[in-house]
Amino acid sequence: MQRSRLLLLPASTVERSAGQQYGQLMRAASQRGLLNNDPQQVERLRAIARELIPHSTRFNPEAGKWRWEVNLIASKSVNAFCMPGGKIAFFTGILDSLQLTDDEIATIMGHEIGHALLEHGRARMSQQVLKSVGISVAAAVFNLGQISTEVLAQAANLAVSLPYARQQESDADLVGLELAARAGHDPRAAISVWQKMARLSQSRAQAGAKGAGGQPPQFLSTHPSHTSRIHEIEANLPRVMPLYRMKAGS
Ligand SMILES: [Zn+2]
Repeated sequence: MQRSRLLLLPASTVERSAGQQYGQLMRAASQRGLLNNDPQQVERLRAIARELIPHSTRFNPEAGKWRWEVNLIASKSVNAFCMPGGKIAFFTGILDSLQLTDDEIATIMGHEIGHALLEHGRARMSQQVLKSVGISVAAAVFNLGQISTEVLAQAANLAVSLPYARQQESDADLVGLELAARAGHDPRAAISVWQKMARLSQSRAQAGAKGAGGQPPQFLSTHPSHTSRIHEIEANLPRVMPLYRMKAGS
């Protein structure tokens, strides 16, 4: 597992831009009365984040300086993300429609944090900025000041709305398993998460075929599942189960 290589944009630029985008999204949600209006669920998410975050510096030492945030948006969307710099959001849709347990939340949150720690978003933003600006790598490296805030904002949005590559998904799964295990959450919950996700997707597709509508879970479009995903998770469990047992038994 390695951090992404194409990291043209400095981490500080990426984190600032992602932080601004996140702030805007939270303000918009708040103005519509959709932000953190279930205090019990918000506290539940934040408690799990507090358990996972101390272990994040194992994967990226810079994470010790991040200003982490965790918020809950009232939306049917089955989704969750962590933007560069530790800006986490869960949608009520993913909690409700999958009836997530704490262990399952920990593996999803750990997976999302994994994308941020491995700087998948930063790599994506760097690519997007190159594409939208149409400049050479050299020009960008020496003249980052010329990239407009709009271009950065757009790139930050795309960083959470486009699917990740399969290898990035596998790597984020591994980080998620280990963060959950070290925090004392059963990493086997990652398997039930993907089983629940598959069942939801199936039942929505059937409802759609009957004309009853039902969109596929948003989370699956940004985190493409593949048939070997659960097998890969199972294959990696023996590596993290001792960490979980040690913590759970302590
Ligand atoms: Zn993912």
